[in-house]
Amino acid sequence: MSEHVDVLIVGAGLSGIGAACRLRTEHPGRSVAVLEAREASGGTWDLFRYPGIRSDSDMFTFGFKWRPWPGDTALAEGPAILDYLRTVAREYAVDELIRYRHRVVGASWDSATDLWTVEVDRDGERVTLTTGLLWACGGYYDYDRGFSPEFPGQEDFRGTIVHPQHWPEDLDYAGRKVVVIGSGATAVTLVPAMANAGAGHVTMLQRSPTYVVSLPGRDPLATRLKRLPTRVSYPIVRWKAILLAVATYQLAQRRPQLVKGAIRKMTAKQLPPGVDVDVHFKPAYNPWDQRLCFVPDGDLFKAMRAGHASVVTDHVDRFTETGIRLRSGEELEADVIVTATGLTLKAMGGVELVVDGTKVLMPETMTYKALMLSDVPNFVFTIGYTNASWTLKADLVADFVCRLLTFMDEHGVRRAVAPRDPSVGEQRLIDFSSGYILRALDELPRQGDREPWKLRQNYLKDVRSINRDRIDDGVLTFR
Ligand SMILES: Cc1cc2nc3c(=O)[nH]c(=O)nc-3n(C[C@H](O)[C@H](O)[C@H](O)COP(=O)(O)OP(=O)(O)OC[C@H]3O[C@@H](n4cnc5c(N)ncnc54)[C@H](O)[C@@H]3O)c2cc1C
Repeated sequence: MSEHVDVLIVGAGLSGIGAACRLRTEHPGRSVAVLEAREASGGTWDLFRYPGIRSDSDMFTFGFKWRPWPGDTALAEGPAILDYLRTVAREYAVDELIRYRHRVVGASWDSATDLWTVEVDRDGERVTLTTGLLWACGGYYDYDRGFSPEFPGQEDFRGTIVHPQHWPEDLDYAGRKVVVIGSGATAVTLVPAMANAGAGHVTMLQRSPTYVVSLPGRDPLATRLKRLPTRVSYPIVRWKAILLAVATYQLAQRRPQLVKGAIRKMTAKQLPPGVDVDVHFKPAYNPWDQRLCFVPDGDLFKAMRAGHASVVTDHVDRFTETGIRLRSGEELEADVIVTATGLTLKAMGGVELVVDGTKVLMPETMTYKALMLSDVPNFVFTIGYTNASWTLKADLVADFVCRLLTFMDEHGVRRAVAPRDPSVGEQRLIDFSSGYILRALDELPRQGDREPWKLRQNYLKDVRSINRDRIDDGVLTFR
């Protein structure tokens, strides 16, 4: 006999911890297990250990809406986020539900029993559990390998090559020349952090520019409202952050030239003399066609002005013994090369789903409210926004699951499924031009051309559609 739990959560990162807390509060009678592949909780915030690791969304929306982020730090450091998550897990006694070194490898649904049988690799041993609701909170990327393109001549390089996902604890870069390849959130975090921690010089080598926007490290409104009780100040600061994020995103979509111009002006002001904003900080795409990079108090620009960091926009021709030769012919000397080249996307924690004996092929499914898959019963997944804090969406998914379970209790329902509607047009899941998304688009589910099949990158619309609309909306079917 396999052990049975009412709800099985895959992953003990931010989403899994949040999910379990909400079930503890709103469905305390249900048995819940959180299966975590690693030996520790916290997911992303435990895995990544590179210098300066921090959030690039404000903590008032990255924190859970039901558990205020303490203080007025807007962009927080990784260890503080990890501490927050583990504290929350302890407070809600969710840490007791987590089973470490349990990697979920597959799950098969049986309509005869309305149950999932979940296959787990527990330290090399196979175990199975059954559950009524499977909730995938496994994040969106492969934990075992970051994206590392093979550069010609890599084996010739005599220095150290590091990927930010696998940062060596003992890496000594004091006084050394560092080249960081990349221009995303990780690169713009690493460059000032390494420069300020004593690297000789740090060069950010990018193929093409990214929008880099400076934000105050401390939120001025949060600072001003510090004297108020948190239960009063947190919702105010949180809603300010939400509305500002929605408004700037909408403005960028409708008036991209205006937003482009404003960012260019702000950036130009912060650059040291002689650095051409149009060469290094003017992307070919519109703002929010890829995620913007936020830097606290302009730390990247400060490091550049201090002469500790610089940006080069060029292509790698090959690695040499002493650094990198660029296509332009220029050579960058390096003792350490950091390949901040991104993540390898992995959907649903790599769990293979089978429904009544038939393997679920992700590209053949369509997302329902971006939290369930068509024709896959009693299965929910948490994936955050690409244009706002992940947690905003994760909280909404948790709201939905709690409401769904209440509905199922009240109506004596054991199965909830969103059957595929052939009249709904198919679109690619994410309209984002970032490399890691484009590389994986073919393996992801599709979205529909209308609600509730459409992925909304808009919290305000999702609040209505996910949190307020009826559970029995005429699309979900029940048994
Ligand atoms: C460096 C970095 C910085 C980021 N900064 C931000 C930010 O500022 N703002 C923002 O909104 N987003 C940010 N993100 C995205 C970030 O991943 C999410 O915000 C958030 O941490 C995701 O939480 P999660 O629990 O969904 O996933 P994760 O943090 O990835 O956690 C998933 C957990 O599930 C486990 N797991 C996966 N598959 C299985 C399986 N098959 N079986 C068992 N366990 C499994 C993993 O081991 C992991 O512990 C960042 C991402 C990275 C990589």
